[in-house]
Amino acid sequence: KKLGVALVGLGKYSAEELAPALKETQRCRLAGIVTGTREKADKWKQRYSIPDQNVYNYENFDEIKNNPDIDIVYVVLPNSMHAEYTIRAAKAGKHVICEKPMAVTVKEGEEMIKACREANRMLSIGYRLHFEPHHLSFMEFAKKKTYGPIKKVIADDGMDIDPNVWRLEKRLAGGGPLMDVGIYCVQAALYSTGELPVSVTAQEGKKTDMERFKEVEQSMDWQLQFPSGAVAHCRTSYAEDMNKLRVEAQKGWYELDPAYPYSGIKGKTSQGDMGLKNVSQQARQMDDFADCIINKKKTRVPGEMGLRDVKILLATYEAARTGKKVPLKF
Ligand code: NAD
Repeated sequence: KKLGVALVGLGKYSAEELAPALKETQRCRLAGIVTGTREKADKWKQRYSIPDQNVYNYENFDEIKNNPDIDIVYVVLPNSMHAEYTIRAAKAGKHVICEKPMAVTVKEGEEMIKACREANRMLSIGYRLHFEPHHLSFMEFAKKKTYGPIKKVIADDGMDIDPNVWRLEKRLAGGGPLMDVGIYCVQAALYSTGELPVSVTAQEGKKTDMERFKEVEQSMDWQLQFPSGAVAHCRTSYAEDMNKLRVEAQKGWYELDPAYPYSGIKGKTSQGDMGLKNVSQQARQMDDFADCIINKKKTRVPGEMGLRDVKILLATYEAARTGKKVPLKF
């Protein structure tokens, strides 16, 4: 039987990526929804044949514990709500996938891990690129030192964001582009080197649009220093489109441009085209989690990885604020 997934928060990512991907999955299926909007509930019930008893709102959500159709709760809410719903889901006895960034504070991340551990449920983070062939190749190059020791990583991810969205509110987003898409640069830097950084330096960009960026940074440049001597130069923005990952190693280079989209990733190396296919990252990610639950295996994208990244992101803000190099310990 396929495991049942309930999506919590039916915004853009749930509607446009996760729900369609759940039609392709082999080991799990869309079984339930949690939404505060009546009209959305009706529309989704019809489109995905979801029975009434598998539709929840934010008030009666905890009753999901009595629903055997739901094995996995997938939290797709604004960042500052991830902790509450992950913890409530764990207490309801469900396995959890939580979107990135896992949380907006370290304390929240720790509490989420604890809640899942105490409930004996698995927790994973929606890090879809760990299931994407180009990114998997980059991890492999790091492991095998295919191009020799890695010297430098360049990772840029940014977009020109619409005004009036929760992503621009500190209370809901926890931060600006660094928390939202800069996290992909952090992730890429770590798996492209195969190392954990020892320190971070950072410089916040000048705000040229005070109206949009009243509460969060407009852009950020930051550098992660690794034990081998490798350095990652990262950049993110909410006012500029950028989407790139490049690794320079002793015996060659390889890059993805664009690097982080849901499809259309293109890769080349100093040897030529990578020639890899794009796949449904989300379908693979959710199927892998279901497989981990069924076969009692560890997920490759656990809560601990999410917490590690939250620590790096918050240290990056500290480095920007103080102008100092901030040491990192895990
Ligand atoms: P969105 O704004 O499209 O959707 C957010 C949903 O949360 C909406 O349905 C909204 O109604 C609901 N919501 C409930 N309470 C809310 C509140 N108090 N304020 C605002 N909205 C509230 O956002 P999204 O792009 O779907 O992002 C949701 C989460 O998914 C975020 O954590 C984001 O980082 C993550 N995400 C991940 C990826 C990925 O590639 N892994 C891509 C996009 C988004």
